Amino acid sequence: MKQLTVISGKGGTGKTSLVGAFAALAENKVLADCDVDASDLHLLLQPEVNVKEDFKALETAVINEGKCIKCGVCMEKCRFNAIKDFKVNLLSCEGCGVCTIVCPVSAVSMHDKVAGESFISETRFGPLCHARLQPGEEASGKLVTVVRNKAKEIAKEKNSDLIIIDGSPGIGCPVIASIGGVDQVLVVTEPTMSGLHDLERILGVVAHFKVSAVVCINKYDINPEKADEIEEYCKEQGVRVVGKIPYDVSFTKAMIEGKTIIEHASEGVSGIIKDVWSNVLEVLKDG
Ligand code: SF4
Ligand code: SF4
Repeated sequence: MKQLTVISGKGGTGKTSLVGAFAALAENKVLADCDVDASDLHLLLQPEVNVKEDFKALETAVINEGKCIKCGVCMEKCRFNAIKDFKVNLLSCEGCGVCTIVCPVSAVSMHDKVAGESFISETRFGPLCHARLQPGEEASGKLVTVVRNKAKEIAKEKNSDLIIIDGSPGIGCPVIASIGGVDQVLVVTEPTMSGLHDLERILGVVAHFKVSAVVCINKYDINPEKADEIEEYCKEQGVRVVGKIPYDVSFTKAMIEGKTIIEHASEGVSGIIKDVWSNVLEVLKDG
């Protein structure tokens, strides 16, 4: 079983549209939406949730008001300033447990904190593992790992050949969690100054984790010179460009209809994306 992660330097590069298209084209696969901070693959795939589980990121302290003698020691010792007026602010508590140790009357205990939910769903293109992180929570890397592990379990059960992972934009913790140990990374970029800069950073991260990367330039025709520059840069780095996709309003139309671009139009830009997919498959097979 192979794992492919699709990432981009920032949001809005068309990454999720491309993953949706791959979902329509790939056979015998499991899909994993690891863009847990701002997932939108579900808008295209309209999943039917079969299994929902709470995601517990860390423990937080809870003060038993009945036991508390209001000595104030916990407030003084909490270095995250998470206790005010003898109550713990769950968003500030880092779960270090110091307050449970210093409390003279054992009025503080640690409890699991629900930071989000993970889901196993069915879509018209097969199983999808996905998740939702609650606003203000920061454990997105850990939640990505939960989603990836669930996708692996399903892929094993169903004897799937491939897991397609929609990764987060950027180079932070969730991205690292979504590329670790995969067979291939596809970086979606666009021909802008920041696109090239982001690409350089992201290829650096991917190389650090010793994962093979290929690049797809989306909307290449909005700035053909910059697209050439990106291609040249990739050539210098020994990174294959598996496709150049022109700007096409069909992507937006398909998104509005809740369809993938492949379902929306069988010709035009869909043909180019089919070529990108067959190049990605070729690289995956060789890898
Ligand atoms: S667990 Fe640590 S961070 Fe949370 S309230 Fe207690 S001392 Fe503060
Ligand atoms: S240390 Fe214990 S008794 Fe003192 S204020 Fe905190 S919870 Fe209350």
